[in-house]
Amino acid sequence: MMFRLMMCREITKLMSQRLDAPLGTKDRLLLRMHIGMCGACRECSEQFELLHIAGEKYQELTLATDETNGPNRAPE
Ligand SMILES: [Zn+2]
Repeated sequence: MMFRLMMCREITKLMSQRLDAPLGTKDRLLLRMHIGMCGACRECSEQFELLHIAGEKYQELTLATDETNGPNRAPE
């Protein structure tokens, strides 16, 4: 199963790349096909998405907190 192991590594790389920039058609297809037949990568992909969403939510929260704290909490 060398091929499959290699693929998993490639797929994981694609998954993290996808968070920074949209993948090309070929990479997207490869990713979807692999996730369709590989349970480990499917789980991995879900984790990536959760992390990504959590990261965005965290940024939103931080920004919102800064905005509400800003006027009320003058530095001096
Ligand atoms: Zn895989």
